[in-house]
Amino acid sequence: MANRKNYRNLITGGAGFLGSHLVDRLMASGEEVICLDNYFTGRKENLNKWINHPRFELIRHDVTEPIKLEIDRIWHLACPASPVHYQFNPIKTAKTSFLGTYNMLGLARRVGARILLASTSEVYGDPEIHPQPESYRGCVNTIGIRSCYDEGKRIAETLCFDYQRMHSTEIRVMRIFNTYGPRMLANDGRVVSNFIVQALRGEPLTIYGNGKQTRSFCYVDDLIEGMIRLMNGNHSGPINIGNPGEFTILELAELVRNRINPRLEIVHMPLPADDPLQRKPVISLANKELNWEPKISLEKGLEKTIKWFKDNLE
Ligand code: NAD
Ligand code: UDP
Repeated sequence: MANRKNYRNLITGGAGFLGSHLVDRLMASGEEVICLDNYFTGRKENLNKWINHPRFELIRHDVTEPIKLEIDRIWHLACPASPVHYQFNPIKTAKTSFLGTYNMLGLARRVGARILLASTSEVYGDPEIHPQPESYRGCVNTIGIRSCYDEGKRIAETLCFDYQRMHSTEIRVMRIFNTYGPRMLANDGRVVSNFIVQALRGEPLTIYGNGKQTRSFCYVDDLIEGMIRLMNGNHSGPINIGNPGEFTILELAELVRNRINPRLEIVHMPLPADDPLQRKPVISLANKELNWEPKISLEKGLEKTIKWFKDNLE
């Protein structure tokens, strides 16, 4: 990348699933990393290998409170991502998105840091057009059980672009589509981790609704590569980063079952409210602006993820 140097990076949500993989990548490339987390869904164990490293610092802090730090770059990931966790305390989720992003933008402005927001495909809600390009403005239920997260991320995007317009803050806005891989929490309720954990425990796989709803699953290493290219590049976004391979939830269940135990039962459970029917990114912008596309197939990514859960599930 053109502007590679040893930055001092702040990663909010750095003890979580995506954040800890990002920490690994930045540490491996010789940069300084300050990781900030309140441990709501993150774990110190994800960062074990960096504790006591001279280029690494860990701060317990909640992004809804302001903080003063001297940094060059902010990777703002702090926010629960799984429906089970973001619906646990929806008011706190909205506060984390709004106040957390506001505080981090204030910090970015004060010290002149570039800031990347981990936004989401959920800004498209239950999309009426398929697949979803960045120009699509979305279809979100403002009063439903997913809105604390969806609307939280929408206002977070708005804040970023207003800071760019008013204060020339250097922003990067990334719309992340369903991402999976090692270090997802066994109990976080997302479909890939649920199916793998259920299959390894010999339990039935739980499909919500008829299983014909679709998602596009991106392996974590591909996602982190896209995130780094976006931060290093000149495009402020919003930009979709995801794998355009689209699968029904039934197909995903079959893939997991066939790899672990084809005799496992599948049970159907009620579809949660406002569960989007379909989701698939248009990634031509990421392709053009970042020269990025995912490299790891769902089959290969599942193999790596299953191996990790086998080694780590208690
Ligand atoms: P995660 O839950 O594993 O990580 C979130 C991290 O943020 C955790 O370590 C958690 O403890 C921390 N956190 C939560 N609230 C906080 C607060 N108020 N103050 C400080 N720390 C706080 O989730 P993830 O999958 O790693 O997601 C990371 C980011 O990427 C989130 O912003 C999420 O919205 C976004 N994203 C993820 C996906 C995905 O598929 N994984 C998809 C779209 C968007
Ligand atoms: N899902 C499912 N069984 C599960 C968990 C989730 O069928 O055990 C479904 C869920 O209803 C949704 C899809 O899988 O249609 C993806 O769910 P996830 O929570 O992983 O992501 P999101 O809905 O936020 O995209």
